[in-house]
Amino acid sequence: MALRNIAIIAHVDHGKTTLVDELLKQSGAFRENQRVAERAMDSNELEQERGITILAKATSVEWKGTRINIVDTPGHADFGGEVERILSMVDGAVLLVDAAEGPMPQTKFVVGKALKVGLKPIVAINKIDRPDARHDEVLDEIFDLFANLDANEEQLDFPVLYGSGRDGWMAKEPDGPTTDGLAPLFDLVLEHVPEPATAPGPFRMIGTILEANPFLGRIITGRIASGTLKPNQAVKVLTHDGALKETGRISKILGFRGLERQPIDSAEAGDIVAIAGLSDGTVADTFCDPSVSEPLEAQPIDPPTVTMSF
Ligand code: GDP
Repeated sequence: MALRNIAIIAHVDHGKTTLVDELLKQSGAFRENQRVAERAMDSNELEQERGITILAKATSVEWKGTRINIVDTPGHADFGGEVERILSMVDGAVLLVDAAEGPMPQTKFVVGKALKVGLKPIVAINKIDRPDARHDEVLDEIFDLFANLDANEEQLDFPVLYGSGRDGWMAKEPDGPTTDGLAPLFDLVLEHVPEPATAPGPFRMIGTILEANPFLGRIITGRIASGTLKPNQAVKVLTHDGALKETGRISKILGFRGLERQPIDSAEAGDIVAIAGLSDGTVADTFCDPSVSEPLEAQPIDPPTVTMSF
């Protein structure tokens, strides 16, 4: 299946969660609307209850035969290294900005990281249903922000949509609601975001997110750079300077399907997956076929944050 990997980046409260829920409802992947709403709420409550942030949740939606993996990114500066690593897994970003508030500190922070890793964000000016929305000014502010962050010409030439995630629509013009729902956003992602780059050769993947799971043990999420992966496959782990860290077998491959992570029978280059079965491999290590001798080049930043999953 055709693939796109994107991140949705935004200041807190600018509407990421609401938009992702609407994308799920309007995509082919998920028709039980009620269930989406309940599940999204559950996971928020869970986070609040346990006092932790579950980092880098990923979701996938399907649009016109293409699976779009949507990776969540922490907006906080404490996770600087984490954000860059996560953004280096994707090929595009949707920047959500509240039409009344305009760019805020976390907007600046995540946009800076996205531009630095070379992404060409799509700008979505959100919440234009607000009576105090001032979308024209906000668009100017976003342009200035990009310019101040040394965006290159292509990055400055960003496509813009306006809309309301809550009301489930986005359009090229700020007059709405329209009857197209979020179709213009889905279409723009397919058009503007490149397919994931893949290389020939056997399985190779950089570990991007490390997670401790009570049932599966150590889980590593990453984007497969080359080759295919099947459960029970032998893999080895190389450190970023090429030393052999461990050899082992993949016990489980989890793919992102809707809001859930599901065990899958095989995964292809370009896809973002989570793998279990290894005991030492970590962020910035290369997970690869035993025949591979050179590690992939990782973003060598900060110690990894270990996240918990349930
Ligand atoms: P997140 O922190 O970026 O995930 O933001 P949420 O999706 O949780 O939304 C934050 C708040 O903004 C919630 O109270 C939402 O109901 C509200 N909200 C989200 N989208 C819209 C929108 O399009 N219009 C308006 N008026 N409010 C919205």
